[in-house]
Amino acid sequence: AKRNGGNGIAVFEPHMGSDAGDQLELQNDLRHAIQRGQMTLHYQPKVDGQRGCIIGVEALLRWVHPERGMISPDTFIALAERFGIINALGNWVIEEACRQLAQWRTLGLHMRVAINLSVHQLREAGLAGRIAQALERHGVTADQLLCEITESIAMEDTQTTQRAFEELRHIGVYLSIDDFGTGYSSLNYLRQLPAQQLKIDRCFIRDLETEEDARAVVHAVVRLAHALGLRVVAEGVETAGQRDILLRMRCDELQGYFYARPMPAETLLAWARGDKPA
Ligand code: C2E
Ligand code: CA
Ligand code: CA
Ligand code: CA
Repeated sequence: AKRNGGNGIAVFEPHMGSDAGDQLELQNDLRHAIQRGQMTLHYQPKVDGQRGCIIGVEALLRWVHPERGMISPDTFIALAERFGIINALGNWVIEEACRQLAQWRTLGLHMRVAINLSVHQLREAGLAGRIAQALERHGVTADQLLCEITESIAMEDTQTTQRAFEELRHIGVYLSIDDFGTGYSSLNYLRQLPAQQLKIDRCFIRDLETEEDARAVVHAVVRLAHALGLRVVAEGVETAGQRDILLRMRCDELQGYFYARPMPAETLLAWARGDKPA
């Protein structure tokens, strides 16, 4: 009962993993997925609006299950949160992203890597310290790492977010508010968060060419971000028309299938090299 997510990713139908046996099996599989080497990161380019070149990537977690194939994080992140293993998973992502950054650098590829953080990781004491240690272990500077936290998480638990952001900013990593526009931000709170970037949610980008409302929201968010001194990123850019509108609005960075899908690290290296011929 799987369908293909159009990304080579198996997406569970809503009923999957809902009966107790299946649930237990998945939970058990997930507990062992890291040690069995079934987790991997795919990387999706972020392209500079002005220059059109790659300036960074977002690391997106993939679980390659021996029987079920590639499973979408939309399915297993929620499971990992429920089963209390999200922090182990998150730590693996931090370690792997730092390792990959260091490897790319030895191959001459210099970029910023973005990772996604769960609210459970923000709540965990010592997150910033753990990230600082991982960076140091791999000889990577903090400014090469960017942490994406969704707006809804940031607003749901403002105290936790504020504290975590300040600690993360203190060690020098960059911070991004993800899926912006889907939560309900207090502008006063937003102003106080030490973030450097806003990422406009995909749903607004999808409707850019057809809906005046979506255009108005995106344009307003771009201006808001710039007024607050933040860079603004559009995610889910799928067409040249969307790109053109975003560039006219002075969106700083663009990300989406129009440029490239998330891909394994080796493919990304080749893509980035082809993008910038010597
Ligand atoms: P997100 O952070 O909003 O990531 C963007 C999602 O949109 C990714 O889905 C990406 O593959 C997809 N995407 C990118 N460009 C396009 C496009 O042009 N069109 C469409 N339709 N989709 C596009 P993915 O990889 O399935 O990840 C889903 C979510 O899972 C992510 O949403 C993020 O919230 C979460 N996630 C992924 N990796 C991690 C991780 O390492 N840790 C945590 N805590 N969450 C993660
Ligand atoms: Ca993200
Ligand atoms: Ca997003
Ligand atoms: Ca999202």
